[in-house]
Amino acid sequence: METTYDIIIIGSGLSGLICAYILSKEGYKVAVLEKNKQVGGCLQTFVRDKRIFDVGVHYIGGLDEGQSLNQYFKYLGIRDALKLQKMDLDAFDTIGFDGDDTVYKMAQGHERFVDSLSQQFPKEHLALKNYSQAIQDICHKFPLYFLETDKPYPDNFKHLEINAQAEIASITSDPKLQAVLGGNSILYAGRGSSTPFYLHAMVLNSYIESSWRCVDGGSQIARLLVKQIRKEGGAIFKQKEVDQFLFDGNNIKAVQLTTGNTLNCKHVISSAHPQQLSRFVRNEGGRLRKAYLNRIQRTKATPAIFSVHYTLKPNTVKYINSNYYNNKTIDVWNTIENNAKDWPSTYLALTPKTSTSAIYADSLSAMCYMEYDEVKAWENSFNTVSNQFSRGADYEAFKEEKANMLLTQLYKKFPQLKGNVLNMYASTPLSFRDYIGCPTGSLYGFERSYDDPMRTALAVQTRIPNLRLTGQNVNIHGILGVTVSAVLACAELVDREKLLTDIVAAT
Ligand SMILES: Cc1cc2nc3c(=O)[nH]c(=O)nc-3n(C[C@H](O)[C@H](O)[C@H](O)COP(=O)(O)OP(=O)(O)OC[C@H]3O[C@@H](n4cnc5c(N)ncnc54)[C@H](O)[C@@H]3O)c2cc1C
Repeated sequence: METTYDIIIIGSGLSGLICAYILSKEGYKVAVLEKNKQVGGCLQTFVRDKRIFDVGVHYIGGLDEGQSLNQYFKYLGIRDALKLQKMDLDAFDTIGFDGDDTVYKMAQGHERFVDSLSQQFPKEHLALKNYSQAIQDICHKFPLYFLETDKPYPDNFKHLEINAQAEIASITSDPKLQAVLGGNSILYAGRGSSTPFYLHAMVLNSYIESSWRCVDGGSQIARLLVKQIRKEGGAIFKQKEVDQFLFDGNNIKAVQLTTGNTLNCKHVISSAHPQQLSRFVRNEGGRLRKAYLNRIQRTKATPAIFSVHYTLKPNTVKYINSNYYNNKTIDVWNTIENNAKDWPSTYLALTPKTSTSAIYADSLSAMCYMEYDEVKAWENSFNTVSNQFSRGADYEAFKEEKANMLLTQLYKKFPQLKGNVLNMYASTPLSFRDYIGCPTGSLYGFERSYDDPMRTALAVQTRIPNLRLTGQNVNIHGILGVTVSAVLACAELVDREKLLTDIVAAT
């Protein structure tokens, strides 16, 4: 007899895997369907010149004892097995600017954060204390962020409607400090005209609490979760791309793969980019309202990224236990707008942590914004490990030119790279589009906006009674953000109170 799954989960990114673990642990028969050869979505890694590179996740916040991600990971049974490197206590992130030799340091722990930046901005000690308090206060408006499970949600949306740039400017009038506090805005694709303060605060606060690199890459998180899911009886199928839903009345009765095969199910949770919903429902019979689908199609995406992994000659460049964010100017809230005319307006550079050397880095990774239009000429190509297709010599030449341009910028701040780069491996918005399934290769899914917060966030529940959504478009992006999104999706199918109690009680 054909198997019927209680729950089919589309996508094996962090949110999909967490849903699979929770629901199989709760006794459901679960299957995860992943279109790629490797599980993990943004947690995937790849190897070049025997070096391991992260596609997405470069560092994680909030993993110290008593902090929320630590508690979520304990519940998932993966915390103790993670191979992590705690980042520099005095500087998990460093912020720099062209034409300024000072490196501004963001330290771990709120007190240390305030004290350390106060040394660089002596007149701004009170402002920094107020900033630290303001980001913590707004995070407390989201009960699951700090696992404050008894706390009700606020009864209005005022906390979602604060503009990040304006709020920071109201806390300090020092333009350089404003720029430093927004200097790592690539972390949340910050844009002065739209970014809400809560988004800035949730991302920054989690790193200020504590910052960690995954040793030998973030795919270990996905691998550990897969083990946990299998232990609970869940199934994970790779290279299974969902193409459409088949209905029985209002409910989905099966999902059909691109191969034409079908899998029967009672419920579906999708972590795929919401723009795929139109494809999944083919909208026969108006199962999802046109207005809803149109809103999803029209919602602005966060920008796309160009990333380059530079492999290094052995034992030449020292590992750096901090990230470095460079900004061309102090106009950090317009880096997305300024990118086309002054590329790259901002970049992140970091040395991944490996288990092979305590002293040296074997590579340096850098990423910066890239407009999708720059790669539009090749948009009809599709290239992943399981579907290898060359986009052509002109595409390779384009990548090489850009990687060299970025390297020229990097030399200014990292002169130790000169003469020590072996090879460059670049990915463009098309790589992210093809691997992750987000149109235009957007970094973090939908762009959130303070002036219309409801339009730019999606609910877990949909009009199809047995279809729920999870992932970075439902809550916010990032490891903690999507973990919470998975808990929110599962809380619709299991006893919410029990689930939260179990998470809080996990040891
Ligand atoms: C370059 C980059 C750097 C980042 N750095 C960090 C960082 O340092 N720290 C941090 O906390 N966060 C970081 N993030 C954000 C974080 O990685 C993501 O927010 C999070 O991992 C997203 O998880 P997800 O489950 O929502 O989706 P995804 O990881 O995008 O997973 C979705 C999955 O669905 C699959 N899929 C899509 N369509 C289908 C289909 N039709 N059928 C079957 N499967 C399908 C995809 O292949 C994918 O595996 C970064 C993101 C990027 C892109």
